[in-house]
Amino acid sequence: MSWLLAFALSRREYEGLTRVLRPVGVKEPIPRKAFEQYLARPHPPLSRAKRPSQHAPQDKLVAFLHPWTCSHPQCLPSATQRGLRAFLLAYLVISVGEGVLGILFRRTGPRTAIKNALSSSSAYTFAMFLSSYTFICRMVQRGLDLNHVAPFTSAFIAGLVAGPTILLDHSSPSRRLTISLYLLTKAMQFLFADLQSTGKLPKLPNWFGRWLLFPLSSAQLIWCFLNDHESFPDTYFNFIVSRSQDYIPKSPRGIQRAGKPWPNSRSIVDAIHHLAKAGYPSLSELKQSELAGSHAIDQVKPVFDYANPNHTRAMCALLHPDTPNCWSPFFHMLQVELPRTFKFFSVFTLIGLLFNRRKLVRQPVETLSKALLSTSKSTAFAVLAIATAWRFVCLWQDFMPGNVLSRDRIALNGFISGFWILLESRGRQMDLGMYSIRLTIESVWQGLLRRGYVKSIRHGEAIYFSLSMAFVIAIYRTNRRAINTGYIASLLDILM
Ligand SMILES: [Zn+2]
Ligand SMILES: [Zn+2]
Repeated sequence: MSWLLAFALSRREYEGLTRVLRPVGVKEPIPRKAFEQYLARPHPPLSRAKRPSQHAPQDKLVAFLHPWTCSHPQCLPSATQRGLRAFLLAYLVISVGEGVLGILFRRTGPRTAIKNALSSSSAYTFAMFLSSYTFICRMVQRGLDLNHVAPFTSAFIAGLVAGPTILLDHSSPSRRLTISLYLLTKAMQFLFADLQSTGKLPKLPNWFGRWLLFPLSSAQLIWCFLNDHESFPDTYFNFIVSRSQDYIPKSPRGIQRAGKPWPNSRSIVDAIHHLAKAGYPSLSELKQSELAGSHAIDQVKPVFDYANPNHTRAMCALLHPDTPNCWSPFFHMLQVELPRTFKFFSVFTLIGLLFNRRKLVRQPVETLSKALLSTSKSTAFAVLAIATAWRFVCLWQDFMPGNVLSRDRIALNGFISGFWILLESRGRQMDLGMYSIRLTIESVWQGLLRRGYVKSIRHGEAIYFSLSMAFVIAIYRTNRRAINTGYIASLLDILM
């Protein structure tokens, strides 16, 4: 029996199980001695040939396939154990997560939420993917290890071969894309750390910190937001628009009451782009130009009609129609958005605190003040970055002739406003930098697709998922310290 148990449980899990079962009256589910003896058994010699020749191809194949038929704890059982663990972990996390989200956002009753979550195909397909991945990866790696392949290479090949299992997660293609893109940036980050720690890459000068990632990618993103908003990721578009009501004004009350039309945020963003392209005309220039009759400007005509008559610049009349003073929307935005965004981020801080309950009980004052400080910093960063990017749209008009860098100056707005990242802690700078790099990759890819420079390959995400995971697993095996994202390292400890 003890050998069967090894297919499901590791030594630590076995001990945990006995600890749980003891109060119920079960002393030892399976005699400990037998289990220990089984685990301590040495591995049988591989080749039974009289003259073992390591390099004969058939011997290599025998060694590679050996784990599939061997019940030694380091062969098949170690893979089934991890596969089972991955399945349970993934299934629990996704179904509990979906249950909680259902209660919070869809306001379903707890009973329906639990029922939905347990029967969720999304949790099942994700668990199938993760468990097959860990199982195949482990088996291939063991087979290559028995062939004395170098650790990095064997882990790399194993991670690569197991990669296509991500297609098993067929219930959510968008999740597959998110995971693949996420791992792509993480793999680059770990590879960079690995090469630096082994001295293969020179240390970078001090001023070139991880904080620069954010301004650089935000330059591209803000440029894309105003110049090519169709390639811009939707969720981030909505995040910026919902936090920019002073610059992408919603329909004023008077207009609403009169039932008059008002352009939506996409039309306003589109019109900003056209005004920039036309070199920031004044209102009178706009009226005489060809642009006046264009569809883009027609769409936002209600804003121009509503705008304060003291406006002279078309861009300012569009961005802040209420007042010709360019500072007033900036300060109004800080006044409104700082408390609103603080509340928004507090939800995440609270969830974080729930996960750190122990620390909260041990050092309540310190933990709370730290949480408060980091929430305030993140709030200030997000609001100031967006407000600054907008403020510079107005500001450049004072310094630059309209035809100089008319569209591309928007990238400068993103770069300059990105410096607010310095408010954040170093760890957050890296996370936010990587997050925005992901959005940059996504928007550049969309832009290339829309212009027909690249073609999307069906299931292409499986290719870069496999490659990224190959690097992550190989680096994890040979230089664990280079996996410098805490939860990914812990997750790999559990799964690999
Ligand atoms: Zn074996
Ligand atoms: Zn202005």
